[in-house]
Amino acid sequence: MPSSASRAIVRLSFACDNACVFCGQDGRADAVEIGEQQLVQLREHHDELSFVGGEPALDARLPGAIETARALGFSAVGLQTNGWALATQPGLFTALVEAGLTDLHLSIHGPSAEAHDFHTGRPGSFANCLELLARGQRANLSVVVTTIVTRSNLRELPKMPPMLKRRGVSAWLLQPVRPYGRAADGFARIVPRFGMAMPWALHALEQARRHALSAWIRGAPLCSLGPFAAAALPAEAGSPPGVYAAACAQCPAKPRCAGVDPAYLEVFGGSELRPGPARPISPFDHGRQKLMRMFVGVGELVERPPQLRTPVSPQAGDEAGGETKKSLRLPVLPNDSGPTDPVP
Ligand code: SF4
Repeated sequence: MPSSASRAIVRLSFACDNACVFCGQDGRADAVEIGEQQLVQLREHHDELSFVGGEPALDARLPGAIETARALGFSAVGLQTNGWALATQPGLFTALVEAGLTDLHLSIHGPSAEAHDFHTGRPGSFANCLELLARGQRANLSVVVTTIVTRSNLRELPKMPPMLKRRGVSAWLLQPVRPYGRAADGFARIVPRFGMAMPWALHALEQARRHALSAWIRGAPLCSLGPFAAAALPAEAGSPPGVYAAACAQCPAKPRCAGVDPAYLEVFGGSELRPGPARPISPFDHGRQKLMRMFVGVGELVERPPQLRTPVSPQAGDEAGGETKKSLRLPVLPNDSGPTDPVP
């Protein structure tokens, strides 16, 4: 049996019923085989387990797999979910809880239906997330939430901690969007510079602290986090590794920093990255370590070249003197731009 607590990940499939604008797994459809033997092997090294997808709640094998995992002695068995199937099928939710489900890892990408549904591409998905949060609270499940940070929701981030805390969420993770899959296709409108996003993200982390909501961030370079560097989670297992700019070579924080994604460096360059001392990480208590382990990430991502040109509509081309098929490169902010005081 494992000597210290750790959480294993089991993917059931890549099938999903949302159409998120930033989906890094777009195009994956491989079937995934799981069997009791795989769970037995994972149990030799892990105490906890998360099922991930796609959307694992769409897979008919899920209730049986949860039951098997609990019978093998996993002390916690969770589900990474977009919430739609579990909110709209109360019978499925009850079956999973009866099978031994202990926790949920839900994705919510804004504090309102306008913000969240825009990102998921599915009207009604925010309302279903709220329904699932209520259902999770009634069933006494631990619920954590991840928010992907994009150009569209960064100004809304500081509004989220009170909303999540009110609904019984135990912990929150901010994750700057990674330029893979659909996020690479829509790079120009989806991926913000760290200089633009981080002031809002750090303000949101401060709001979480004020509302006594445990919160972390993953996927931002340590030098962009200032005093919040202690809230940085390590890179998720199985996802593509980051790269470093020339300036990073002498950075004392490099051994602890996951760097940035190659496409980010290709588009924006590395002039935002500033070598500096590594701030110490405070030890977290047992309860918060358990919450941190629930943020398992999505693993493998689909590499595609970042698209920086957005086609102008034919009408706009006409207005511009008949120049159709004209393309626009969205503005790239200079290093020192972006709000210095993100308080609205
Ligand atoms: S300068 Fe480079 S290595 Fe140092 S914290 Fe920034 S991104 Fe990480």
